[in-house]
Amino acid sequence: MKQIPYWLDTAPALPDRSGKDLPDEADVVVIGGGLTGLSTAYHTARKGARVVLVEKDKVGSGASGRNGSMCTQGLTISPGEARKRYGQERARELYDSFREAVDVVEEITRTEEIDCDFHRAGRLGVAFKPQHFESMRATQRDLADNFGHETQLLTRAELKSELGSDYYHGALLDPLSAALHVGKFVHGLAEAAERAGAQIHERNAATGLTRLPGGGFLVETLHGAIRAKQVMAATDAYTDKALPWFRKRLINVGSFIIVTEPLGEARAKALIPNGRLVVDSKNIGHYIRLTPDNRLAFGGRARFAPSDPASDVKSGGILKREMTEIFPQLAGVRIDYVWGGMVGFSWDRLPHAGEANGLYYSMGYCGHGVQMATYMGRAVAEMMDGRPEANPLRGLGFPKVPVPFYNGTPWFLPFGGAYYKAKDKLR
Ligand SMILES: Cc1cc2nc3c(=O)[nH]c(=O)nc-3n(C[C@H](O)[C@H](O)[C@H](O)COP(=O)(O)OP(=O)(O)OC[C@H]3O[C@@H](n4cnc5c(N)ncnc54)[C@H](O)[C@@H]3O)c2cc1C
Repeated sequence: MKQIPYWLDTAPALPDRSGKDLPDEADVVVIGGGLTGLSTAYHTARKGARVVLVEKDKVGSGASGRNGSMCTQGLTISPGEARKRYGQERARELYDSFREAVDVVEEITRTEEIDCDFHRAGRLGVAFKPQHFESMRATQRDLADNFGHETQLLTRAELKSELGSDYYHGALLDPLSAALHVGKFVHGLAEAAERAGAQIHERNAATGLTRLPGGGFLVETLHGAIRAKQVMAATDAYTDKALPWFRKRLINVGSFIIVTEPLGEARAKALIPNGRLVVDSKNIGHYIRLTPDNRLAFGGRARFAPSDPASDVKSGGILKREMTEIFPQLAGVRIDYVWGGMVGFSWDRLPHAGEANGLYYSMGYCGHGVQMATYMGRAVAEMMDGRPEANPLRGLGFPKVPVPFYNGTPWFLPFGGAYYKAKDKLR
């Protein structure tokens, strides 16, 4: 069993971008080489800025290379919750930006000819409890009436044509969500950023930031310092002590994935006949999809623990049990990959972007970063170019986690986790 993300293992080998001399100055320094950072570098370089991206490890080594490879539609909170908080008009604006985000990923793959299997597979939200199906019915009406988004409700009987499992009580099908091979997308975006003129420096962490009296920043890194007119923090759940302001605002949660051996086309099709992206409605839910070579990728939070090699294996065992509960026909199937990663959540369960103390940022995607990180990179490039109104998340602030002395270590998660696990047991 390999303990590396399937998506990185099956993407072409990455060039080594470490050991390069850092220039003395740049227009824009981007900290972090995931989709947020790469997209910011790509879009700012295309505007003609001199861009330097520093990445602590390798491009895509954070969540961007370790996720479920789902580019799904829809807000990170329910449309009803968004309306309650912000009013219908603003909720619709936010909803539309999440929808546009998927279009932006598609546009980049086309413009830059990134061969990453992007296709509108559709997302099947499956109901774990009968009452979840009833709330899906209400959501479907709300989406159609107030958000201009047509989805399809599938009863338990109708779901049989979409899923080889009797585990769920029906589903809501969104046709616009897309699947992609995120390893290939991350690589392609890094190459596109370089073609646009950005420099990428791997294995070089930013270690400190000092605001300069005449404007801009001095960014200290492991391999020298660089002056920058503008700096972008694109570190999400991997934010370290170099950026303490953000650590007080993020709750980082481990998420884990197992991938089976190749199942063959017929067996794979019997599980998910139309190749949908499946996301279940449990509190501690699962995300499930087929890979391009007919394996099943089965992800979930499994336990409220951070990701590390031992924790990933432990979580993989839980996921395997859960997978065979949902798909008993997979008992005995070999697991070829297990890995984990950290997902950045914000206190209000929305992503946040803007400028804090002169520093640009975008993070806290709450599990929707494949499309939103890519999209927000484009928005931040516009913001840096003097257009703050291009920020679809403007006005949301970035609330601190309201736990005394909180500094980025969410010690309280296992308690909340136990509560939600117990709720999931009641069917
Ligand atoms: C297991 C898992 C499954 C997921 N599934 C999905 C999914 O299917 N769909 C979806 O939309 N989202 C999913 N997500 C979330 C999504 O992957 C993230 O929201 C997104 O990748 C965040 O991108 P990012 O570029 O902001 O951060 P990251 O990709 O995490 O990149 C941050 C980078 O910053 C670097 N860094 C940190 N500190 C420094 C420093 N001081 N100096 C230099 N570099 C630094 C890190 O090394 C890292 O590479 C999933 C996440 C996980 C972990």
